Amino acid sequence: MEIVNSIDKLPSPSFVCEEALLEKNLKLLSYVQEEANVKILLALKGFALQSTFELCGKYLKGCCASGLHEAILASQEFKKEVHTYSPAYKEEEFEQIVSLSNHVVFNSFNQLKQFKNKALKKASIGLRVNPEYSSVEVDLYNPCGAYSRLGITKQNFLEDELNGVEGLHFHALCEQNVDALQGALQSFENKFGSYLNSMKWVNFGGGHHITREDYDVDGLIQLLKDFKKRYPHLEVYLEPGEAVGWQTGYLMATVLDIVDNQMQIAILDTSAEAHMPDTLAMPYRPDIRNAGLANEKKFTYRLGGNTCLAGDIIGDYSFDEPLKIGDKIILEDMIHYTMVKTTTFNGIKLPSIVIKKDDNCYQIVKNFGYNNYKTRL
Ligand SMILES: *Cc1c(COP(=O)(O)O)cnc(C)c1O
Repeated sequence: MEIVNSIDKLPSPSFVCEEALLEKNLKLLSYVQEEANVKILLALKGFALQSTFELCGKYLKGCCASGLHEAILASQEFKKEVHTYSPAYKEEEFEQIVSLSNHVVFNSFNQLKQFKNKALKKASIGLRVNPEYSSVEVDLYNPCGAYSRLGITKQNFLEDELNGVEGLHFHALCEQNVDALQGALQSFENKFGSYLNSMKWVNFGGGHHITREDYDVDGLIQLLKDFKKRYPHLEVYLEPGEAVGWQTGYLMATVLDIVDNQMQIAILDTSAEAHMPDTLAMPYRPDIRNAGLANEKKFTYRLGGNTCLAGDIIGDYSFDEPLKIGDKIILEDMIHYTMVKTTTFNGIKLPSIVIKKDDNCYQIVKNFGYNNYKTRL
């Protein structure tokens, strides 16, 4: 592992995760755990940066995995509790998943029936239910939208087939505050509360934006305490992903060229499509350090990626000074749900992975090259 002492010496592009910011998030999550007497797991789907797992493991109780590969990563690298939920398990993978998992959560009674005997040998069994409380506005991220395949609805819940089931799980939120959790929880309890007496645990899923500045942390703690008063026998789990990696670092890229077509267009050595696909899928406009909206500052550019996709555009930004070839661009908050989603589309090089220890110490933990492209196809 190479260590450099300033951002100018980093390979470009690089994802730079700042350890101090990550630890700040972890401390807040740990505070919630202690105050409310709940357990918080890291959802690997949103943040799977192994080189920070030792730090994360000091504060969090384990990981939530979405299938075999995440379960292996959780078990081998994080080494604490492993809770696995998958929309559907495969026969050939299930035995290994169970051997690695403390909890396995099923998405249907079909799956429960198919795998129950194997699961009972080692793990605690849970069912994911759908509280049908729909408050996420973007369909792509709404687990409770119309025709959702995620979780068992009340209508399909077979109360006579709960033998061996020890927990219920719901995941209904995305980037939301306590009011949304309150709504989802109310709906969950109305529909499924009567089954909680025979359960040992309940999992409130992810989507709790606990580390966002305006999140009502005290409200969350109160809500959790109230729930525990109603159900003192239940262990309560939360499994945020985004809240762990929220605002813990950036993607640093370099201006390769500037072209003109009725406006100035800067081409970067990164890509919206390959390196930050949520900017196109959600879509959203990432913040760029020291840049404003188009025409807000004196010099406006469209920033585009270095692939041949016409729509590989990050957005229009303005700067106080003209951009020059070789300038560094810092795209803010590019750690959660970005590093886990990169591709080698168009043969573009993956960004290096860097951990910022402090202002004078950047650990380059991974560089990528041709082989990462070649070996996938
Ligand atoms: C995505 C997901 C999470 C994590 O959600 P965040 O929005 O990253 O907090 C937790 N549990 C399940 C089942 C998920 O699908």
